[in-house]
Amino acid sequence: MARIDDSRSECVFDDFKGPLTPEQAVIEANRCLYCHDAPCVTACPTAIEIPEFIRKISTGNLKGSAKTILEANIHGMSCARVCPVEVLCVGACVHNHQGVPPIQIGKLQRYATDVAYDQGWRFFEAGAATGKSVALVGAGPASLACAHELRRFGHACTIYDKRAVVGGLNTTGVAPYKMRADRSLDEVEWILGIGGIDVRTGVEVGREPSWAELEEQHDAIFLGFGLGVDTPLDIPGEELSSIYGAVDFIERMKLAKVAVSSVRNAVVIGGGNTALDTVRELLGLGARTVTLLYRGTEAAMSGYAHEWEAARIDGARALWQAQPVEFLGKDRVEGVRCLRVDDDKRPVAGTEFDVEADLVLIAIGQAKLGGLVGALPGLRVDRGRIVVDEHGYCGRPKYWAGGDCANGGKEVVNASAEGKRAARAIHQMLEGADHG
Ligand SMILES: Cc1cc2nc3c(=O)[nH]c(=O)nc-3n(C[C@H](O)[C@H](O)[C@H](O)COP(=O)(O)OP(=O)(O)OC[C@H]3O[C@@H](n4cnc5c(N)ncnc54)[C@H](O)[C@@H]3O)c2cc1C
Ligand code: SF4
Repeated sequence: MARIDDSRSECVFDDFKGPLTPEQAVIEANRCLYCHDAPCVTACPTAIEIPEFIRKISTGNLKGSAKTILEANIHGMSCARVCPVEVLCVGACVHNHQGVPPIQIGKLQRYATDVAYDQGWRFFEAGAATGKSVALVGAGPASLACAHELRRFGHACTIYDKRAVVGGLNTTGVAPYKMRADRSLDEVEWILGIGGIDVRTGVEVGREPSWAELEEQHDAIFLGFGLGVDTPLDIPGEELSSIYGAVDFIERMKLAKVAVSSVRNAVVIGGGNTALDTVRELLGLGARTVTLLYRGTEAAMSGYAHEWEAARIDGARALWQAQPVEFLGKDRVEGVRCLRVDDDKRPVAGTEFDVEADLVLIAIGQAKLGGLVGALPGLRVDRGRIVVDEHGYCGRPKYWAGGDCANGGKEVVNASAEGKRAARAIHQMLEGADHG
């Protein structure tokens, strides 16, 4: 598996939610009420038995605790770091209604899974070989979770990814103060440790091999190819240098070196979580000022309020209800011309103003890649998103999908849950029960 260079830019970031010590973990675990019908479990897309794994920490049974987590969610180690727990399990903890701080579920999960990784504990074995083979397109969390589950049933798996590094956006996109790329690669290695998963990098499915070739070579195909490149703004001046798509910039920062320390006025355009991540990343990399430009109000922003609060504390500024209409500059970007926007997100004529900028990141979304499979009869695609049923089936025999390419772009935990769900349905099909 390709490793990455320690001189990459993301290495300047520290963990913003440090680990618990063993003593802290036991104290925190003992605060849990071990609720019956626990709302924290319902709030988790992978339905981890949270009270059970916490109780096991409190009794010193760390092996059992890690197994409970990883049995439900094979990405339990990374999800402990990257999940937006504030709006999932921790947000649902009953303590929130009792004026008591909620249980730090993510940190407890990190504690148990980190010990499991450090100790080299493994819990799952491949099933007896069935002679069946499944192709998985993309090596992100959706395909990895799907492949791991398929191996437990004994099916051979081949994962194809067009990139050199594996792990998808968990490796190339997640903010480094939550998790660095090398930790994601540790997880990929742990998952692949089940054996029998052939990973082929640098292979762009659709070109070479074609879908017809994949269909010929495999008994089922899982689509986990995520989303595409950053959506452009399509305004004059976008070709100037020092204007980048945010996801592209983040990938370079995580895998290589980017020069930001001489940047005086960075501008990030957008109001989602990628925009909020990049604001904090630019500040951490040494940009003097970082301004978020968003055409809606603060309340209308799709990014999590707790992430914006953290960015604000780090020193970010924001201009709300501002619509960029032109990038200014000769060869390099020097500024962004904007119009004020009314409460219905309509630009107001005659309200132009300029914002200085020597670096601009555009974070208004990623392209949907449904076009990749557009020519396959039966496979349903709606506005670029692969349409699936409740098992992940795509409507064309042999094809299942999950993760961002099917859900439109959610979280790692959703991709992992959807990959596992599809694996179970594919297994049923391969056993002769259903679909294709
Ligand atoms: C900047 C950013 C930050 C994020 N931060 C968080 C976070 O903090 N917490 C969180 O839970 N989620 C976060 N997410 C979302 C999360 O990373 C995704 O939901 C998750 O990775 C989706 O998994 P996936 O397997 O569906 O797709 P991906 O992780 O995108 O993986 C898809 C893979 O498919 C490959 N591929 C694409 N086309 C082809 C092809 N034709 N042939 C072969 N391979 C192909 C790609 O190279 C890629 O490796 C973030 C997303 C972004 C963009
Ligand atoms: S809701 Fe809170 S207190 Fe109840 S089981 Fe979950 S973490 Fe423990």
